[in-house]
Amino acid sequence: MKTATANIDLNALAHNLSVIKYKAENSKVLAVLKANAYGHGLARIAKALSQYKVQADAFGVARIDEALELRSEGVSKPIVLLEGFFSELDLPVLAVNNLQTVVHNREQLNAILDAELTEPLKIWLKVDTGMHRLGVNAEEFDEFYHALNQSENVHKDIIIMSHFSCADDLTSERTNAQLRVFSSITKSLPNEKTLANSAAICAWPESHYDWIRPGLMLYGVSPMQNADRDDLAIQPVMNLQSSVIAIRQIKKNEAVGYGAAWVAKEDTTIGVIAIGYGDGYPRHAQNGTPVLLNGRIVPLVGRVSMDMITVDLGNSCQDKIGDIATLWGQGLPVEEVAKHSTTIPYELLCNITRRVHMGIL
Ligand SMILES: *Cc1c(COP(=O)(O)O)cnc(C)c1O
Repeated sequence: MKTATANIDLNALAHNLSVIKYKAENSKVLAVLKANAYGHGLARIAKALSQYKVQADAFGVARIDEALELRSEGVSKPIVLLEGFFSELDLPVLAVNNLQTVVHNREQLNAILDAELTEPLKIWLKVDTGMHRLGVNAEEFDEFYHALNQSENVHKDIIIMSHFSCADDLTSERTNAQLRVFSSITKSLPNEKTLANSAAICAWPESHYDWIRPGLMLYGVSPMQNADRDDLAIQPVMNLQSSVIAIRQIKKNEAVGYGAAWVAKEDTTIGVIAIGYGDGYPRHAQNGTPVLLNGRIVPLVGRVSMDMITVDLGNSCQDKIGDIATLWGQGLPVEEVAKHSTTIPYELLCNITRRVHMGIL
């Protein structure tokens, strides 16, 4: 019998990359692989995206360790540290391993100007256009830009970037405001530019510029609030599955699981599936969270345990021990599970734990 397994569908990944390229056909693709490629396996996803007929042009990660893991796995495409480097001691490592870095603060600027490097670095200069998380202020931008341009430690083709706070919300005025700020800062500059995450790739074509930076959408998950995911024509890459390990008859008014948190309203059958929060299934999934079993949706009932969940199979079910349930993936978008768990799909994907087997479809 199969225990919890995340089956990774590399054909779906290739398909999603083509969908993305079609939406922004004049832009290069920086595929975002941070947090173990959103739980899908860092090296596996990078290699797949380097081998398709349609390929990513570069990879984005959050930490230098992620970049070095990719290099040690033989990945040769450009890699960008999206949060920049954390210490000046990282700079020689970047130069030797041909890693590119975001610059978003003065400490990073000074470290680069003062460093003694064997190779110049390729820099992505990040400007804050309204999200107020990372980025140099609009008033500081010219100073950073010129200082970097004049440094022998820096390649002359600096890329200028910013990041949206609300691109997934079509009704927000903030995205237009950020677009205006970005344009006013960069329009006279010849450099390549980049703004768009997945939501902006879908909803804000004027943000596409020279590079797009898809994360979530590559993995087949809708980045939009309140949009029909079928319109995007993407396919889930992760199929999280496990087996039914018990089938129990329950009488009306009997309770199921920890805290006796769910009570049967009528006689029914309960299925126990071998997956829980120890695998990364969300403990806060509510009663009624959908689970796909034998071609139909059955509701989660009772609390999520560390290694198990319980579902209501109804009183005339045909399910058997050993049947495979899908917790999310083809036929059950992770977006649905996130909605029932008061979280977002990003968190569910990243939270898959080490004991979950990784399979390739
Ligand atoms: C994570 C990240 C992305 C990708 O965002 P998605 O919403 O997953 O597409 C793009 N750009 C930056 C700077 C990021 O940190």
